[in-house]
Amino acid sequence: MKYFSTFLLLMVCSSIPVSAQEQVDTAAVMLIKDEGMNHSQVMEISSWLADVYAPRLNWSPEYRKAAEWASTKLKEFGAENIHFENFSPVGTGWTMKKFYFSVTEPHAFPVIAFPKAWSQATHGTVSSDMVILDAVTEGDLTKFHGKLKGKIILISEPITLKPHFQPDAERDADSVLLRLANRGVSTQGRMGRPRMDSVAMVRALLNSKKLEFCQKEGAAAILEANPGDDGTLLYVQGAAVPQPPLMPGDYTSPRKNPYDPDASPLIPQVTVAAEHYNRIYRALQKGIRVKAEMRLDIETTAADSSFNIIAEIPGTDLKNEVVLLGGHFDTWHSGTGATDNGSGVAVCMEAIRILKKLGLQPRRTIRIGLWGGEEEGLLGSRAYVKKHYAERPDTNRSQSITDSRGLIIKPEESSFSVYFNDDHGGGKVRGMFLQGNEAARNIFRSWFSVVADPTAQTISAINTGGTDHLSFNEVGLPAFQFIQDPMDYGSRTRHATMDVYDRLVEDDMKQTATIMAVFVYNAAMRDSMFPRKPQPTVR
Ligand SMILES: [Zn+2]
Repeated sequence: MKYFSTFLLLMVCSSIPVSAQEQVDTAAVMLIKDEGMNHSQVMEISSWLADVYAPRLNWSPEYRKAAEWASTKLKEFGAENIHFENFSPVGTGWTMKKFYFSVTEPHAFPVIAFPKAWSQATHGTVSSDMVILDAVTEGDLTKFHGKLKGKIILISEPITLKPHFQPDAERDADSVLLRLANRGVSTQGRMGRPRMDSVAMVRALLNSKKLEFCQKEGAAAILEANPGDDGTLLYVQGAAVPQPPLMPGDYTSPRKNPYDPDASPLIPQVTVAAEHYNRIYRALQKGIRVKAEMRLDIETTAADSSFNIIAEIPGTDLKNEVVLLGGHFDTWHSGTGATDNGSGVAVCMEAIRILKKLGLQPRRTIRIGLWGGEEEGLLGSRAYVKKHYAERPDTNRSQSITDSRGLIIKPEESSFSVYFNDDHGGGKVRGMFLQGNEAARNIFRSWFSVVADPTAQTISAINTGGTDHLSFNEVGLPAFQFIQDPMDYGSRTRHATMDVYDRLVEDDMKQTATIMAVFVYNAAMRDSMFPRKPQPTVR
């Protein structure tokens, strides 16, 4: 009953200053907490997204079917102006229809394995010897000339496995949160991508030569050992196109992608559980003949553009100003994308449902953006920002009207307030990364204090990376990603076969959706738009 008496008290003093500057509608926050924590639909939304409308590989027909379901659902929740916005580049749709892979000799066993997206079909069942391509230099490849045709090739080295003495999943300990709180601004946060060192560059170059060689020699399929273990296949992504790796710092050289309309067919690239890969590898090293059968059936659709899903709760007196929430709608294909990023999509859809269910009338328009093509490089959110807010001039065209930062500014840029992204797995919110925007610190501190969850209080100056808030930050717009408990995102679910509904934790999902609803509502109600970082100017 403690909750109820607090609730009544807050209903009486409905808008109180929680810090020197920040007025928060605390009565609304209490209503949001009650709806989000006690009448949640976030797990039901997640189940539809993960169990029925998944996976959602970008450009695939499944992506479109899922988007149609999401737009119907958003309409049911009461959202308006629901529409799809196309973006480039075009890509070929790819759906796996059947996959079978079994060792048949000397002892039969089904292999834990998964094909990479945009691999071509095997055109029936291949029955073949397996061969190790153990070239350590490009020159070594010549000795395999004429020996790979129709064979299943082990292209990588085995992976040494170790017992697990650490838990697979973790929550952020107080010491971790303290470290995040005390860190200064850095360019790379928790989800940033490590840079390639020179050894990795040499290895990547050799790998691309090996792939090219297997293609030319007419191999039936290529296998690589998967870094996951205990039955999990991690990082099952797109098939690699044979091409030299990008030099460090080179972000502009054109790259070939497996989904490009003019991409050459890629023989099946299959990632194999390390335990099985190692077993086959060791037998072959002993000179034992190992045979296998493989079949991969796929369906492709003609190259087309992809699209983002947009919907709104229209604002009232400040309806031309926009508060945005979102996450990416596309997934990789081996699991069901429940934590990457079904969880973020479900959280954002649930936040919209909560606000509409309560009949709250935001002053600014609250807009949900469910982005496509995140996994291929933030394609959907970057295209959205470019179309609506700002872009860097294309050096090949004469676009000379730029602002002091060298950006071409679009009319809607001045009415953008803030964007909240959800894409760091299904773990609950523990705080917020500031992206170097110190002006946001006290605002978030106030908002977290009103939510009054003692486990979600940390503010970190870090620039965290890896997802769609970067597209907005790149052009100076305030855009944020919550600090979330890591859970088993890194060990089990990210881009993995085990990214499934069962890895979501209901209480975490409810808490995240509630905080998301509170944050977007507060942002839509505050007197002024969200503060922006001071912007560096270009000469
Ligand atoms: Zn993601």
